[in-house]
Amino acid sequence: MTGRFIANPVLPFCGGCGHGLVVRNTEKALEQLGLSPLDVVLVTDIGCHGLIDSNFTTHTVHGLHGRAVPLAAGIAASLPAGKKVIAYIGDGGAAIGLQHLMEAAHRNFDVTVIVHNNMLYGMTGGQPSSSTPCGFRTPTCPDGKEGRGADLCRWVHAAGAMRCRRVLGKGDFSEAIAEAVAGSGFSLLEVIEYCPSYGAKHNPGRSLDDIVREAGLALENLTNPPAPPCRLAPKTDTGSLLDLEPISREFTSELDRCVSIMLAGSAGEGVQSAAEMFARAAVAAGLSVTKKGTYPVTVGIGYSVAELMLSPRPIQHTAADAPDFVLVTSADGLKYCGPVISRMRSGHLLLDSSLANPATAARVTQLDFRKPSGPRAAALCASAELLRLHQLFPLAALRAEAGRSKHTAKIDVERLLADSKTS
Ligand code: SF4
Repeated sequence: MTGRFIANPVLPFCGGCGHGLVVRNTEKALEQLGLSPLDVVLVTDIGCHGLIDSNFTTHTVHGLHGRAVPLAAGIAASLPAGKKVIAYIGDGGAAIGLQHLMEAAHRNFDVTVIVHNNMLYGMTGGQPSSSTPCGFRTPTCPDGKEGRGADLCRWVHAAGAMRCRRVLGKGDFSEAIAEAVAGSGFSLLEVIEYCPSYGAKHNPGRSLDDIVREAGLALENLTNPPAPPCRLAPKTDTGSLLDLEPISREFTSELDRCVSIMLAGSAGEGVQSAAEMFARAAVAAGLSVTKKGTYPVTVGIGYSVAELMLSPRPIQHTAADAPDFVLVTSADGLKYCGPVISRMRSGHLLLDSSLANPATAARVTQLDFRKPSGPRAAALCASAELLRLHQLFPLAALRAEAGRSKHTAKIDVERLLADSKTS
């Protein structure tokens, strides 16, 4: 089997796997429709079926488990009419991404979803899925599944899909695939098939016809009244990282080694924005910089910590064993940094004067970070004190950056970042 749509005839499935028939029938259907491989985007999910990507000559995109449908919907929404987007998912992916499936059907994205329903998770050893019919046995369900299996066709039809059809994965069902792909709007084609490795072995003597009949799953062909497919206008006003203004080098630095800095304070007190200004200022002074922010998922409460590295040379790593400088502006920050500070054998700890002095072998200096301009400016104030004490790069660079930043609208930057301290 080699043709315009399949470059490699050796399929990556176990012998006799129903997935192979879906692939062959897909190729036949695409040939019948007279499509070019370049007109087709095949989006696959996690599962054995997803191993097929490299066999197809169409565009292929591989998604995360259960997420192939929204990927396909996004692609379809922005493609011109005439292009065809097909999502291959398994019954496991259909269960994991059921909300995506229902939403895509409801909004009528121009996608054909082909569900390889072999009634189990093949790739992970044969666990039952929500579509496994009652009584169907799998390696992890040797007495047969209890309870009804999901009727995907009816569920997705109820969500508004244009076409929902169930077929048995036997022989030539290319006509069903061609019908699903040719139409406009959302189509679901559920192919009931066997996984020889885990399904057939545990259900000897049961044909696909028996299983479907006993499960009460009719070979349905359901439609809804035609509706225009969902298309989304491309956004033209969205910024890109590539549009960022480069930072021009306006200052110089005498720094001759890589130093690491931990800036720790409280959420909502400008720690991350101060670190951002500090990092940009260091770049403006010709240094290489890394910056990493750490805070709880509840971003408005608790600690907020930024870790920076500065070097006159490119930095080839992203973490330092122990910081050279730790700047702490609040009790939240001190609590977070406590273990780091206790491990410091050298370096310099700059601590707000309101905080208790922790046990450490590092040099400790207590200063007023919170008093001069309030808690919102404490992190910026601490950054300035670090530059006054250690001249990593000119304080003027930080002053220039802070003067441009929207985060300092309510801060007297000139006073706070004066070359010599006045308050
Ligand atoms: S494990 Fe089952 S589903 Fe996976 S390739 Fe083998 S037969 Fe097919």
